[in-house]
Amino acid sequence: MATIGFIGLGNMGAPMAANLLRAGHRVTGYDIVARAAEGLAARGGIAAASAAEAAAAGELVITMLPAGAEVRSVYLDKGGVLANARNDALLIDCSTIDVETARAVAAAAAEAGFQMLDAPVSGGVAGAEAASLTVMVGGPPAAFARAQPVLAAMGRTIVHAGPAGNGQAAKICNNMILGVSMIAVCEAFSLAERLGLPAQTLFDVAAKSSGQCWAITSYCPVPGPVPASPANRGYAPGFTAAMMLKDLRLAQQAAGLTAAPTPLGAAAANLYQLFVDEGTGSLDFSGIYRFIGKPDRKV
Ligand code: NAD
Repeated sequence: MATIGFIGLGNMGAPMAANLLRAGHRVTGYDIVARAAEGLAARGGIAAASAAEAAAAGELVITMLPAGAEVRSVYLDKGGVLANARNDALLIDCSTIDVETARAVAAAAAEAGFQMLDAPVSGGVAGAEAASLTVMVGGPPAAFARAQPVLAAMGRTIVHAGPAGNGQAAKICNNMILGVSMIAVCEAFSLAERLGLPAQTLFDVAAKSSGQCWAITSYCPVPGPVPASPANRGYAPGFTAAMMLKDLRLAQQAAGLTAAPTPLGAAAANLYQLFVDEGTGSLDFSGIYRFIGKPDRKV
């Protein structure tokens, strides 16, 4: 049993913290939205009144925040984690943020004498609820070993990706593949429709041929072939288009800083931007099929 401070109890953080409670850990949680911490208390956790109180409460501090700006502030501000955590606390940031911020905050943590890991996840809210997340971890091996039993209460596949920031690097590279491949699949199904080739027939061929990929076989963006895919429920998420756009932008930011040529990643980010601009950010990201298929779209 570990004592854990948990900051950021939103769509992902709340079920992740609930799984820590279920595994027998003692969890003290904080969120700027007070009812989120009350929800944790109703499940057997402890509601903290501030980030400082949650940070001071545990041998481990876990954060699950929207983006890099919130992570910087929660870790580096006076009332934040570095100023208030126990000397021996292990710090784990599970948010998806830019690699630069992850490395800067990890360096500040190391300077203050803390071990820190970046540990972004994939698997969405369903994976958070089922404790089946994939966790990609960057940071020192000793810290990874210490974190593993706790991460295993929230995820099924835990991968050590290397030093600080490499968890974020793995996450944005994976999601760039996913964003690009989803668009490629949408274009192929849209072309097939115009050629008179039924979606089910293209699915039967491509799912067993060299075009096979997760976006076809597990998450087909066209209603029908994969009953569990969001296409069959009006593109209710799932993984929202807004989240995909965020991750594609993070990939583009990293590509810019490292001069990595990513023309398809850039095109995917532009297409998701245009799609989200239509007010569809809360739809599942596979809903871009509706946009790709539009003959009058601007790109
Ligand atoms: P969310 O917006 O539901 O949750 C974030 C929570 O952080 C909110 O409850 C918010 O009130 C809280 N918060 C913001 N600033 C704070 C502060 N200064 N102090 C304390 N709490 C603060 O977002 P989410 O869907 O839970 O996602 C969290 C992270 O996980 C994001 O980085 C996201 O990209 C990543 N992620 C999300 C999914 C998904 O499917 N939702 C999947 C994988 C990764």
